[in-house]
Amino acid sequence: MAEKVTKTDEEWRRLLTPEQFHVLREKGTERAFTGAYWAAHDDALYLCAGCGNELFSSQTKFDSGSGWPSFTAPAGAAAVATETDRSHGMARVEVMCSRCGGHLGHVFEDGPGENGLRYCINSAAIKPVAPRK
Ligand code: FE
Repeated sequence: MAEKVTKTDEEWRRLLTPEQFHVLREKGTERAFTGAYWAAHDDALYLCAGCGNELFSSQTKFDSGSGWPSFTAPAGAAAVATETDRSHGMARVEVMCSRCGGHLGHVFEDGPGENGLRYCINSAAIKPVAPRK
């Protein structure tokens, strides 16, 4: 199990862009179809933009039509944590990085895969790297 990453807001502000800070540390949401990766199709491993934790693989990425990067599953069972989010008058399931606690997005039960899950993730919360061979 990877060690947890804990930083103050000041430390995070120095490491992240304002957009990354807003999404990861203030639970913000980028506007649909504005992020860098909603239409990305390259083979990639998507890391947490905050701490580098391996979160999602392009192998589970699909076109959801939502305007946000969408995945049927995380890269590993321990990659993300979930929590009920009752903000904005809705009951949703928030998805967070298991290592730094950064907000990634939400998971919905209308996905196309066997598990029926759709991880709806902000581009600002992730960064792609070349997959391992
Ligand atoms: Fe993280």
